[in-house]
Order: sequence, then C-alpha cells, then structure tokens
Amino acid sequence: MYDVSEIRRDFPILSREVNGKPLVYLDNGASAQKPQVVIDAVTRGYAEEYANVHRGLHFLSNLATEKYEAVRGTVARFLGARDEEEVVFTSGTTEGINLVAYSWAMPRLEPGDEIILSVMEHHANVVPWHFLRERQGVVIRWVDVDATGALDPQQVIDAIGPKTKLIAITHLSNVLGTVVDVKTICAAARERGVPVLIDGSQSVVHMPVNVEEIGCDFYAITGHKLYGPSGSGAIWIRRERMDEMRPFMGGGDMIREVHKDSVTYAEPPMKFEAGTPGIVQQIGLGVALDYLMDLGMENIAAHEASVASYAKARMDGLNWLQVQGNAPGKAAIFSFTLEGSAHAHDISTILDKKGVAVRAGHHCAGPLMDHLGVSATCRASFGLYNTEQEVDALIDALELAHELFA
Ligand code: PLP
Repeated sequence: MYDVSEIRRDFPILSREVNGKPLVYLDNGASAQKPQVVIDAVTRGYAEEYANVHRGLHFLSNLATEKYEAVRGTVARFLGARDEEEVVFTSGTTEGINLVAYSWAMPRLEPGDEIILSVMEHHANVVPWHFLRERQGVVIRWVDVDATGALDPQQVIDAIGPKTKLIAITHLSNVLGTVVDVKTICAAARERGVPVLIDGSQSVVHMPVNVEEIGCDFYAITGHKLYGPSGSGAIWIRRERMDEMRPFMGGGDMIREVHKDSVTYAEPPMKFEAGTPGIVQQIGLGVALDYLMDLGMENIAAHEASVASYAKARMDGLNWLQVQGNAPGKAAIFSFTLEGSAHAHDISTILDKKGVAVRAGHHCAGPLMDHLGVSATCRASFGLYNTEQEVDALIDALELAHELFA
C-alpha cells in the first residue's frame, strides 16, 4: 500500500515552514528533496567511510571503492540494463549528453550530417548539438509538437534521411509533461541504422524505464531529480556505441599507461570517467535508487497519476489559468500562465508567500518557449510525496495571485 503520509515522514524538509506556512514543494522538476536514508548515506560517507576510490590499498579506500562501484549495478537494475559495464557515471544529464557529443558525435559527424531533435528539448540536449552545428557544420532538424504538446513519433521517423546520424530526444518534457513514445522511434531508427540518445532526466523519476525494451543507444539520467544528491548521475551506453567512442576528458583513472610519448586507456566504462568522481554523491544516488525501487516505480507512477488528475480537474475549473500541454498520458508537470499581464516571476513570488514553491522562467527550453509563443511560465511539478491537499494549497495561492493581478 502506498501510504503517502508515511512516505512524507522520510523527507525531513517536508515538515518545515516557509514564510510561516507549511512548505508545499512543487519544484521537483528542477530538483527533488532527499529522503533521510540518502542524507544518512551522505553523512556516513563523509563521517565514517571516506577516502578516494580506485587508488589506495588501504581499508577506507577499498570500502569507498566497493560502495561506489556497487552503484553501477544499482543503476543498471534501475534502468533494466543487462550489463553494469554499460553504465558510465556522470555529474548529471548535462555531462552525459556532452560526453556523447564530444566522444561519439564530434569525431564521426561531417558537415551536412543531421541530428534530429524535438522542439521540447532542454538546453542540455540542445546546446551540445549547437556546438556541432557551429564547429562542424552539422545540421539540426527540429520536430514540432502538436497543439496538445504531443509528439507524433511518425514525424520523428519521417525526419530521418540519408544524412541523419543521431536522434537526440527527451523521454518526458520538463515543461509540458509530455511522454514521448521513444520505443516506436527507436525501433524505426534501428531499422535505418540511426542511433538514439534519450534524455531521461524527467522520465525515470515518474515511471518505470527499461532501456533494453526501449531499444535506445544512450540513456542519460541525473541524480538530484531522482531524490539523490546533486552532482550524481549516469548515462547508459549500449556496448557497441561505447566501442565507437573516444575518451572525452583526460586525466587520472581513465588510463591504462601513460608515458612521455604514448598513452593507453582503461576499458569502458572507466575510459570515460576521468579524475576523482563524486564518490559520496554516487553512493547517495545508489541509496536513492534503492529507495525508489523499494517503493516501486509502478506505485509511484500510479500515485502521481492520481494527484495529477486531481490537479488537472482543479486547474480546469480556473478559466483565467492557461495550462500548456494536454497530451494523453501527460506526467504530473503543469506549466501555466495567468490571463492578463502578470509575469511568471511575480506569480511565483506570490505563491512563495503562501509556502508554495514552483519554478518560473523559460525552464531551459528556449525552442519550446518560441514554439509556444511565451517568454516564461510558472511550473508546478509533482513528486512521489505530493498530495491532493497540496494541490488545494496551490489553487488557493493561485486564486490569490489572480485577485491581486486581475
Ligand atoms: N534534461 C531535462 C529534461 C531536464 O529537465 C534537466 C534539468 O532540469 C536536464 C536535462 C539537465 O539536468 P542536469 O542539470 O542535472 O544535468
């Protein structure tokens, strides 16, 4: 049984007040709060078990290495990957996608080669491809969403041409909550020999994900949205793609031998992990993923779907509120504007006065903002611990904002 009141007790920050009101944390899309088990793991990691990994032969170094390396298996299990050696640790999705851009794409793509992106991509899945456009004449082909914010997989498939070298696409929009049918896209891309990179930053938080079933080549995730520490993350890379990649960052840990006039590299995944990593952060991520798997991603998805449908019903009753995106199966992410000239920043400031934390701005999704014809929205993004009562608190605060700005 999914007992949200009990689950909330796992997150100490949820019992604090903000501006004299109980905190209603609806900024999970930006970063999620941490359960006590993660906080404890981080504290223990530094207080009792800290040393650098892979290097020493002493007790603490071995302990830290063992705990750190065990997380590779946890990530593989969480993502349904067959082989933990296909998991590269990163500081988050941004690093994961940049790794693919620098290691896999840059050496392979030539002027005129094409990369397909959806208009919903986060800047982390846009700017690295702009680097290739600016530096090597690569062409970005954009696929739009429809009026509901849905992305028709056929449009992505139709955009594949003889010059297409990569499809880089989000699994779940951080602005619209749209879930993309990545499985259909991957099946068609595979038939045509085009690799697919999926930005899984938002999807893995809200639903079960299995990279083998999806059939993608790269799947990037970020730990801090998964109720884990910031600075943690991973990218799953299909083995055959790993074999095509040259190292991105050079330094300690990623080499086999270094001499004055030669260097040889470690085997993947170490080949792609230069320097001292976020040791305790990754250990904390492992604990966060175990926490999620214990709750069950199916159960989390069902709970969030029910809170989302309540939120949608309440928002539908406010004729002065414009919610962006209404695609079937949309996740619990609501970006909205208020009728009139109230700016998203002003609205979020009013909500904050009521203890309700939402995000305001472009959400690192410039191409989507252009497509929607807005410069900024407020975004309420729900997580595994949010409740219908918190939806009511959001609606009350929005009504106040509407009165003030009407
Ligand atoms: N992609 C999406 C869809 C996101 O929502 C985010 C974070 O907001 C990112 C990528 C970037 O994640 P990070 O900043 O943790 O690397």
